[in-house]
Amino acid sequence: MGTEEHEGPQAAAGVSAPTIEVATPKRTKEIIAKYGFSFKKSLGQNFLIDQNILNKIVAAAGLDKTKGALEIGPGIGALTQRLAAEAGKVTAVEIDNRLIPILRDVLSNDSHTTVIHGDVLKLDLKQLFAEQFTGVTGVSVVANLPYYVTTPILMKLLEEKLPLEHIVVMIQKEVAERMAAKPGGKEYGSLSVAVQYYCVPEVVCMVPHTVFIPQPNVDSAVIKLTVRDKPAVDVPDEDHFFRVVQASFAQRRKTLANNLTAFVGKDRREALTEMLVQNQIDPIRRGETLSLEEFARISRSMLDAGWGTKQ
Ligand code: SAM
Repeated sequence: MGTEEHEGPQAAAGVSAPTIEVATPKRTKEIIAKYGFSFKKSLGQNFLIDQNILNKIVAAAGLDKTKGALEIGPGIGALTQRLAAEAGKVTAVEIDNRLIPILRDVLSNDSHTTVIHGDVLKLDLKQLFAEQFTGVTGVSVVANLPYYVTTPILMKLLEEKLPLEHIVVMIQKEVAERMAAKPGGKEYGSLSVAVQYYCVPEVVCMVPHTVFIPQPNVDSAVIKLTVRDKPAVDVPDEDHFFRVVQASFAQRRKTLANNLTAFVGKDRREALTEMLVQNQIDPIRRGETLSLEEFARISRSMLDAGWGTKQ
């Protein structure tokens, strides 16, 4: 695993050859044939072949030459070359070493693009930011994510509190809907709360499975997460807040009182019910109806009562 700086011959000589768009069925098939590349389903390799969708992703990211973009999983560079045209600095992390020479070729005109061979889940992203994005006014993550690791990747980006402006990613449609869901619906759950704690989500567009080679079995959506300057609610202990949220959704058909009793211990059932009532939260409500502020109130009251954990 390592870093490859791409300063192609044309770039070095100050002459730019016209860029050929990768994201067309014809060009993608040509590149795959030229390198004898075979797709690895286990790495979530579905390459985008639609200019229209690429336009929407790039427009949503709001990049300009003062900004940086981190791409996770560049594949054969369809999105990377577009990001390179818009941003002042692009860094792309790709796990599959067979794609590195292809990316070197495709991106040979882009002197401000760096490809890092590595697993984004294992990289020290704070260090990567310090090394790659000095001198830019803001960084956004822009990616067509491998679906098998969407949530771990997004949670890593958010929990590490990286200095990000936006996260614009293509993900499975149902996951996007869960991230953007409001209280009261069946899509609303601990993922909605976690994402909305750190970000303001907005579904940019739905994407049919036909715009990829090979086609995935599911439809996709592009979601834009605008990272908040500070979390949506004030909590004394984030870890406890998220444990309360998890516990509230543990068994979706159970009431809040029942789910939270399992969390704090049976002996505290009565005191718990009283605490919920004092917080103007009906104990027979279900977790899926609670706002972030209500979860925060419960977490604060539990900590005030010294109920960090089970009795
Ligand atoms: N960006 C390209 C496009 O839009 O056509 C490819 C997107 S494809 C859905 C996902 C890419 O992520 C693949 O190139 C895959 O090899 C890469 N990938 C999978 N797991 C990864 C990981 N843990 N770290 C970095 N890249 C990963």
